[in-house]
Amino acid sequence: MDSIREGTCFKKNEEVQQAITLWSASKAATFRLIESRPMTWAIECSTKDPSYPQERLHGVYCNWSMRASKQAIFGKWKIVKWVPEHRCTGANVSRADRNVTSTVIVALIFPKVREDPAYASKFIQADVHREYRVRVGYKKA
Ligand SMILES: [Zn+2]
Repeated sequence: MDSIREGTCFKKNEEVQQAITLWSASKAATFRLIESRPMTWAIECSTKDPSYPQERLHGVYCNWSMRASKQAIFGKWKIVKWVPEHRCTGANVSRADRNVTSTVIVALIFPKVREDPAYASKFIQADVHREYRVRVGYKKA
């Protein structure tokens, strides 16, 4: 997941979103949508939201953002802008699972559930936490 950089290509926008969501979760960082159009998907650190409680940032300014756009010629989604690191990591850890949707979790654990139907929520929680250092609620798991 640390191989995402400017120029990285994905087949579909959904693959971009899943990769970025998991990358963000592994950094305990969250993002907010700036732009979502047929040819563009852009997000930025959720701490840049004007309504984000500034006191939680302790003076840290995080300029993390990324933009992917569909390439007219190849039809692939390319990362055209990529800020490598969040500076806010740790400031919003408790909200880190907000972007980890059930869809992402399903993609992650489905192969295991198929192998072993007894693979229960608590193991899902433990696995997600071990791999991405994110705690997800029991219901979401
Ligand atoms: Zn950030």
